[in-house]
Amino acid sequence: SLSDNLDKTFRNLRGVGKISEKNISDALREIRMSLLEADVEFNVAKEFIANVKEKAMGIEVLKSIKPGEQIVKVFNDELTALLGGDAVPLDLNPPAHILLCGLNGAGKTTTAGKLALRLKKDGRRPLLIACDLYRPAAIEQLQTLAEQVGVPCFAPEAGEKNLVKVAKQALAWAKDQNGTVLIFDTAGRQEIDDKLVEELKELHKFVDPNETLLVADSATGQQAVSVAQHFDEAVGLTGIILTKLDGDARGGAALSMRQVTGKPIKFIGEGEKLDQFGVFHPDRLASRILGMGDIVSMVEGAAEKIDEKEAMHAAKRMQSGKFDFNDFLEQMNMLRKLGPLDGLLGMLPGFNKIKKQLPTEALDEGRMKRMEAIVLSMTPKERSRPELIKGTRRRRIAAGSGNTMLEVNRFLKQFAQMRKMMKSKGKMKDMMKQLGGME
Ligand code: GDP
Repeated sequence: SLSDNLDKTFRNLRGVGKISEKNISDALREIRMSLLEADVEFNVAKEFIANVKEKAMGIEVLKSIKPGEQIVKVFNDELTALLGGDAVPLDLNPPAHILLCGLNGAGKTTTAGKLALRLKKDGRRPLLIACDLYRPAAIEQLQTLAEQVGVPCFAPEAGEKNLVKVAKQALAWAKDQNGTVLIFDTAGRQEIDDKLVEELKELHKFVDPNETLLVADSATGQQAVSVAQHFDEAVGLTGIILTKLDGDARGGAALSMRQVTGKPIKFIGEGEKLDQFGVFHPDRLASRILGMGDIVSMVEGAAEKIDEKEAMHAAKRMQSGKFDFNDFLEQMNMLRKLGPLDGLLGMLPGFNKIKKQLPTEALDEGRMKRMEAIVLSMTPKERSRPELIKGTRRRRIAAGSGNTMLEVNRFLKQFAQMRKMMKSKGKMKDMMKQLGGME
C-alpha cells in the first residue's frame, strides 16, 4: 500500500508543469503520511522529508524534463540513499565464518539454508553448522535443509549443553570438509534476554566471525529495528538479513533499519522457498516502492532459471507459426520455473494498478493447470498437429482431462487464435490481451 499511495502522489506530481513551494509541500505531506502508515520510524520519516524538500527546492529546472519528473528522481535518489546506497557484499575471505542470530521465528534456520544455496550457486563451498542446543527440532530442520541444498551439515551430539565445545568440534569437522564458508545457525528466543546475550557473546568470541548477521522479520516493523539495536550492542552486527518481505508487511522496517542502526541490509528473503532470497539492492527496492518496477531483479531471476536455448527455441517456433501443443507445454514449464505468476508480474512497473483491473482468472494457476491437463490428454500426434483435433477426439480429450466439451472447445479456439497472432509480428499487444482473457 506504501507503493500504491506513493504512486498516486507521484502521478499527480509528474503532471505538474511548474514547481512551487506549495505543490512540493503538498506532495511531501502525503508522502510523509504514507511513510508513517508503512511503519517507518517517525524521526527517519521526518528527516527524510526534510532532505527531499531541500533538494527539490534546489532543483535547477531543466527544460527538457518536466519538473514533476525531476522531483520523482530526487525522491528516488534519496530513498536509495536511505536504504543504504550501494549493495554491501559479504566478507567471504576463506575460511569465512558467518554467524546468524535473531529471535525465534524470524526465519534464521530457513535463511541459513537459503544463504548456503546462494553461496553454492556462486561457486563457494558452504558448510552449515547447528548451534541451537535448546531445540532439537531446529537441528533437524537445518539438517533437512542442508540435504535439500546439498551441503554438509554439522550437528551437535544429543544432550550436549556446552556451546563452546560444540563450536570447537564444528571447527575441527569443518577443516576435514574442506569448506570455504561456515554458516553458524544459533539459538533464538522469544525475546532478547540476558542468557541469550551471554551465550551469543561467548560463541561470537570463540568463532570470531567475518560476518555477524541479524535475521530480522520485516513483518514486525519497528520492533525489528529495535531488536537489531539490541543485538548490535551485544555482539556488534556487520549486517542484517530482512525476511518475509513477500508478505503484506508494511515494509517500514526496511526503510528505517539502515538509518537507525547504521548497519547495511545485505540480503532479503521473499518467500518460504529456498531460492526466494537475494542480495539486497537499495536502488531496486527504492524503485519498486516507487512503483517503477524491479526489472533488473526480474531479468536476473529469469536468466538464472530459464535456459536461454530453450527460450530462443520457443520464440522461433512462435514466429514461424509452427507453435504446437508440445511448445505450449514447454512454455508452461518455463513459466512455472519462474515462480508464481503473480509475484513475477508484480515486478513490472505499474502492474499493481493493472492487476486490479484484470479478471482474477487471468492469474489463476488452477486454470493454467486445467489447460495443461487438456494438452496432456492429447496423443503425441495431436499435440504436434493441432488441426487434427475434431469431434470425437475432442470428446475423448474432454473426458480424459476431466473438463467439459465447452471448456475444451474454448481452449482450442483460443489456442488457434493465439497461434495465428504469433505469426504476425508486432502484434504482441493483441496477444497479451488474448492471454489475459484466456479462460
Ligand atoms: P527461526 O526460528 O528463526 O529459525 O525461523 P524459521 O527458519 O524456522 O522460520 C520461521 C517461519 O518463517 C517458517 O515457516 C519459514 O518458512 C518462514 N519464513 C522464513 N523466511 C521467510 C520469508 O522470507 N518469507 C516467508 N513468507 N516466510 C519465511
